[in-house]
This record gives sequence, C-alpha cells and structure tokens, in this order.
Amino acid sequence: MAKIFIGVAWPYSNGVIHIGGVAGCYLPPDIFARFQRMKGNEVLMVSGSDMHGTPTTIKADEEGVTPVDLANKYHELNWKSLQKLGSSYSLFLSTEDPTHKEVARDMFKKLYEKGHIYEKKMVLPFCEECGKYLPDRYVEGTCPHCGYDAARGDNCDECGKLLDPEDLIDPRCLNCGETPVMKERTHLFFRLSAFERPLWEYLKDKEFWRTPVIKATEAWLEGGLRDRPVSRDIDWGIDIPIEGHEDKKIYVWFEAFMGYFTMSVEWAKRQGEPDKWKEYWQDPDVRHYYFLGKDNVLFHTIFWPAVLLAHGDLNLPYNVPANQFMRIEGEKFSKSRGISLSLDDLLDKFPVDSLRYYLTVNMPEIRDADFGWADFIAKNNGELVATYGNFVHRALSFTAKNYGEIPKPGDLEEVDKKALAKIEEQWKKVGDHLEVCEFKAGIKSLMELARSGNQYMDTKAPWSQIKEDREACGTTLYVCLRIVQALSTMAYPFLPHSSGRLWKMLGNEDTIEEHGWEDALEDVAVGTKLTRPVPLFEKLELELEEEEEEETNMMDIRVAKVLSVEDHPNADKLQVMRIDIGTEERTIVSGLKGHYENEELDGMNIIVLCNLQPAKLRGIESRGMLLAAEDGDVVSLLVDGSGAEPGTRVMGTEDAPILQFEEFKKLRLRIGLGTKKGVQVAPNHFIDLETPEGKLVAMFFSGDDKVFPFKVGDAYVSLDKEVAPGSKIT
Ligand SMILES: [Zn+2]
Ligand SMILES: [Zn+2]
Repeated sequence: MAKIFIGVAWPYSNGVIHIGGVAGCYLPPDIFARFQRMKGNEVLMVSGSDMHGTPTTIKADEEGVTPVDLANKYHELNWKSLQKLGSSYSLFLSTEDPTHKEVARDMFKKLYEKGHIYEKKMVLPFCEECGKYLPDRYVEGTCPHCGYDAARGDNCDECGKLLDPEDLIDPRCLNCGETPVMKERTHLFFRLSAFERPLWEYLKDKEFWRTPVIKATEAWLEGGLRDRPVSRDIDWGIDIPIEGHEDKKIYVWFEAFMGYFTMSVEWAKRQGEPDKWKEYWQDPDVRHYYFLGKDNVLFHTIFWPAVLLAHGDLNLPYNVPANQFMRIEGEKFSKSRGISLSLDDLLDKFPVDSLRYYLTVNMPEIRDADFGWADFIAKNNGELVATYGNFVHRALSFTAKNYGEIPKPGDLEEVDKKALAKIEEQWKKVGDHLEVCEFKAGIKSLMELARSGNQYMDTKAPWSQIKEDREACGTTLYVCLRIVQALSTMAYPFLPHSSGRLWKMLGNEDTIEEHGWEDALEDVAVGTKLTRPVPLFEKLELELEEEEEEETNMMDIRVAKVLSVEDHPNADKLQVMRIDIGTEERTIVSGLKGHYENEELDGMNIIVLCNLQPAKLRGIESRGMLLAAEDGDVVSLLVDGSGAEPGTRVMGTEDAPILQFEEFKKLRLRIGLGTKKGVQVAPNHFIDLETPEGKLVAMFFSGDDKVFPFKVGDAYVSLDKEVAPGSKIT
C-alpha cells in the first residue's frame, strides 16, 4: 500500500467552470484518485478556489460587488458543480481559508529569511487621478504588435503576446481613463534564476512525462530563468508578512500554488492529526501528481518546484500529466470569451456519466480535442448506450426473467474460457493505462470488454440455448454476469455513478466503494437473486439549439404602429393607446407622461411585447406592453427605424404562450453600445458581439453568456434618445 498526493489546478473564482476545464484538469484527477483508492492506496487529493488576483477585482467592479462576495459566489457554485460531477477531493476550500493565508505567509517569510526573496526597485504605472499604482491588468492601451486597442498591461488578448504596461501605446487607467505615469517603487522578487541548474537536475529522470509537458518545460528553461516579482499593489489578496511591505499583497501566482501544501496542512488538522501532512510531503517515496491545463504547465514544472526547492524538506512533483485544450465545436475554449458551456448547465441537461464518458474518450491528453455536440450524442448513443449499456442490460434482464438469480455454471467450453480470460486481459490493460494517467486509452480498453461481451452473447445465443439446454444457457449467462461484474468494477474510476447502480443490479447488498480493483476478477455469487434491471444509460437527443433560445422563445415582440393616444381618464400619469400589431388592433396603457407628449407618439413605430399577461390599469385593460429603456430620468422608446410592417417580429421571438409579469421581470433585457471591443454594457464590461460602432442596441441576455440583439430583419432596433450602456429595458 502506498500513499499518493494529488494536486488539482485551482479554479478561478471569477467565473463558472466550463466543460473545457473539466476535460482539461478536473475530471482526470478524479479518475486517477478513484483508481488508486480501489487499489488500496491512500490518496490525499486537494484543491480549492483561487480567490485573489485582478481578474476577480475587475469582474467584481463590473458587477458592482465586492471581490470577496464575487469570489465566494463562484466558489460556492463551482464547488457544487464539482460535487455533482462526482469529484472525490479529500479537501476543497479556497485561498481565503485562514489556514491557507497563515501557512502561505509562513512559507513566504521563510523564503525571505533564507534569501530567496529580495527587494528590488521597479518602475510601475501610477494613476495620479486614482492615487494608486495600477496592477498590469488595470492598464489598457494599444498593442505594439498587432494594434489591438484594448490590450492589457500583461498581455494582448488579440495576438496573445506577453506585454509589460510600458509597452502599451497610449496607455490608460482602467478605473478612470487617465494616462498613468511611470513611477519607481520597491517590490519583492523571488530568486528564480538561482534554480536553473537544480531544475535541470530535477528533470533528468522525468522522461516519462507527456511530450508537450516536457517540451514546454525544457524550452522555458533553455530561455533562461529570470527573477520574478512576488508582491503587488492591490487591495485584494494576502498581506505580505515582511516589514515595510505591509501595504502590498502576495502576487497571486506565487500564493495560489502554495494551496497544495496549505490544504494538506488543513486536511491533517481536520483529521485530528495535525502532523499527518508530513506523511505525504516529507516521505520521499510518496509520489505527487498535479493535474492541470497546458496554460498552467510552467507554474507546476518550474515555478512551484523552484519554490519547493527553495523551501526545502518538501516533495517535488513526480508527474504533471497536463492536458491540452478542449475546444467547443472547433473554437478555442476560453472562459473570458463566454463561448463555452458551464459544467453546471451541462449537468442539468445531461446525465453525469454520459458527460464523464465523452470527456474521457475524447480527452485532450496530447493534442487539443473538440467538444462537438453531434459527436457527443453519437458517442453516448452509439458506444455508451449501444455497447456497454446494451450488453449489461441484455445479460441482466434475460437472466432475471429466466432464472431470477445468478445461475450456476456447468462445464465450461473453450469459448466460455476465452470470454473469462478476456476479462483479465482487459482488466490488466485498463489498470496499466490508468497507472500512467492514460485515461483515454483506459476507457477504450474498458469498452473493448463490453464489446467482446456483446460478441460472446451473440455467439452463444442464450435465447436459443434456453429452449434446448437450460444448463448450458445458465453457463452462458454466468459468464456474461462475470463480465458485467468486471465492467461494473473496472468502470468505477471513470463512471462511478452508473457503476454503483450496476453493482446493485447484480444483487449486491454492499456498495461498489467497498470493493477493490482486484475484485473485478472475483467470481460472482451464484444464487444471488436478480430483479428486472433498468437501463443503465439513456439515449440522448440533440435539442440544445432549442434550449439555448428558450428565453427568447418566451417572448412575442413585434413592431407596432401607434394609431391614437389619449390621456387615461382616471390616472394623471398614464396614457391609453390604440396600436396595430399586424394581426389585430389592441389597447395598451403606458406610463410615458412627462417623457413623451401624446402627439409625439401618434404614428410612431414602436416595439411591443404582445404576449404579456393582460392587466387592468385603473379600469382599462392593457393587452401588451411597449418597450422602453430607462436611464435615471431619461426614458427612451425602442423604435423600428427600418420601416417594417406592423406585426413584424423581432428576430428570435415567436408566437409564445402568455408571459406572467413576474417571469418577464426575470428576463434580462438591456441596452448596449456598439464599440470596437464588442458591445459595452457597463463601463468596463464588453460582450463579444459585433454591432455597428457607436450605435445603441437593445439585447436579450439568455443564461450566462448568450446575447441576442433585437433585430427586425437586418436592421437593429433603435433608441429614440441617448441612454447609458447597461440601461434596463422595461
Ligand atoms: Zn496584440
Ligand atoms: Zn485612474
């Protein structure tokens, strides 16, 4: 029995976990941990949310909340989704955890005292308007390489080049727009350059690492290591524990990976054995595995090992089986662009093991992979359901129906023996692959056993055997159930949820978790009662397109012509309008008094929500609601400038059932401003959508990251008056 440490990349707490990240770094460690536990090893697997850093403060500014509230919100959400995925962490907290802060500060201090961290002057952008030094990502300007006008002080999102704030042409403060000045400031640096030789030494016996990982690491080392800043001028993070630097925070890159260690300390505390972390971190025989995406490799093969070497007395990574990227339908996966789907949404839509299957069989271990919707459905229906699910269902239901229990085998023929030998053959293959973190090959070897089970059953044809020779048929089914039991055990690391169900369908009283990897080869308990099984997996249909547009489908929004306007007889602030909505004339009551004169409105082509629940307003029934944007005192009607006929629908909306006012209030309808960077919906928030520059556009938001502009034919719906981007449409 061995001890194994598994570190899993820390999800950022400035957004939800997307499916690309699951395939990249959250699912593989779980498969590995489950396999190792089954083998009887003790696994310590830790991670948590990376709460600090400027991406969190920038997002918090955009959403108008504090960084801690934003980080906590995403931490909770992500932790919930990871649990739904089945992630079996020993501990998952966050970098806001008190033990993390304390232990990270201790590590920092120790490195400083040992001389690995030192003071150095640097020149930083300072905003005189805001009265503070600006973190790199708070400086925006034109990229000197590609001319993109919204590059940040650390890198250009357009061409991907790394930048320093002083490289930017025409730099501005992201807070206030003023031009920052460059000022000298003392910061703390980690002496990374001192670890070049020790790291080459460390890499010497790592020839078993994945090719892209070792290549990236060697290329970086060949370029030479430079010392790196580890303190920062920012309000959100962990205080520097060094005198004279109390006004700065530990740079997040330097602090987050310490979490692997700090969480181990906290885990030991919670075990009631505060020194237990030493068993994992100080025994050189304990192997440390780190799972992460390719963008994170150098932090785990160079920076973190250097910190561990500087600290001394702690184990270095044994293997860093980093994955490449999973792109969504060919587009490079990127959280910041909002094109991918969140793990939480997918788990709501699909069975968890269907997702786990697809992400494993398509895992980007050596090359980038694509998440394709049609491919996902095809692999689920054609492999998981048609091969694995179909075999176990045929075997179990035929046996339950005809025998009611696991039948006793008679004499085994050659074909039976071969089928049983196949179990051991595939069991060995799956185990060998898992041992070296080849998950894709592992699950393929597992499926081969299911495939051979199907073939065996077809060859033996128990449905014919039962008519002639009940005992021979019993032997066939016995062999089938041995394969079923092996599948249930061997599939457990990959597909734990369905494995547990299958285990129960075999009539077992205990749980799959109580069984080890070797148990796949165990005999079945002859005589165990079987009940009719339920199918293990379900076929999926591709209905995503419709679901994505669900929220717009709830609305029937049309161009309407105002036929007449009168004051409401019983209310000073209301008007009564007759409008033509194409199919009929209607009366609606509006509250535009003080913003629009009755004469002004007469004859206008406005935009009306037609399927809103009719409501009586001071005695007059209003059937529908005109849409207008509100920005403080300014109210602006949404109008059609394209000359469309009354009744023309705003694209994406359709004949929809009655919408209650409460439901309508939940829909997010907003005004954005077209800019070069996309549609602006808040001072610092842009959505990746191309609309005419300088034009105000009305939009619906659907889910987390979908936006549909209000269009009539090819034309965008216009606004009658200027309002600020982000204004609500009511
Ligand atoms: Zn660029
Ligand atoms: Zn400023």
